[in-house]
Amino acid sequence: MLAGMKCFCLSALLLLAFANGEARAADRELLTQYSTIPALLAGLYDGEWTCAEVLTSGDIGLGTFDQLDGEMIVLDGQCYRARSDGRVVPVAGSEKTPFACVTFFDADLAVSNLTAGSIAGLAAALDRQLPSANLVYALRLDGTFAYVKTRSVPRQTKPFRPLTEIVKTQPTFEWKNVRGTLLGFRFPIFAKELNVAGWHLHFITADRQHGGHVLDLRLTNQTAQLDLTPALQQNLSTHAAFLKLDLGGDSTEAIKKVEK
Ligand code: ZN
Repeated sequence: MLAGMKCFCLSALLLLAFANGEARAADRELLTQYSTIPALLAGLYDGEWTCAEVLTSGDIGLGTFDQLDGEMIVLDGQCYRARSDGRVVPVAGSEKTPFACVTFFDADLAVSNLTAGSIAGLAAALDRQLPSANLVYALRLDGTFAYVKTRSVPRQTKPFRPLTEIVKTQPTFEWKNVRGTLLGFRFPIFAKELNVAGWHLHFITADRQHGGHVLDLRLTNQTAQLDLTPALQQNLSTHAAFLKLDLGGDSTEAIKKVEK
């Protein structure tokens, strides 16, 4: 354990404030992120933050769990795991995560009449309605979906394989005419070495029994709620593996491989 490391104040709080400097009420306009996608791509799957801790920073979000044990879905302040068999189960506050991002959801803008034949179509339809491509957005869409395809990831054992290898055999699941909630985030292109640039969406069925990371979908005439998020709190890992990691390359291609 890195007892000495804590002294370095590597509690690593990097506050990127895009806002105009006014005091914000109760940090509800803040997206809080734990670790980064490139760190996850590098195989850092050891949990570092508890789900209880993550839930103090938001009531909606996504991520994964210790040893990459499933897809995280946070909705209405409850943390769920989409297991590698596609089933969703509630998660105890003591469980740990190596990567998560959450915010408190307050809808700022609704995008109605959304019809899309694919996830790329939905992304394009949403993007056309954004006031700016340079902010972070949280999305929540409660509705009926003609089709949803999700994946999850199975728990890994050491030595951890890279995520780009694991997803080659990822279990996928499909639903037709399913009710549920789509949720996630859109990050600006300039945040691409912290998170997924563009939309990253997870899905949970209305009965909260199934879900995962969304690979594709189709929907007709649905309404999405968007929360404009003008500030980002980036918590960095203090694990030895992260401290030694050589970051700074371009993760764009690797992120495409693991997200699509
Ligand atoms: Zn995901």
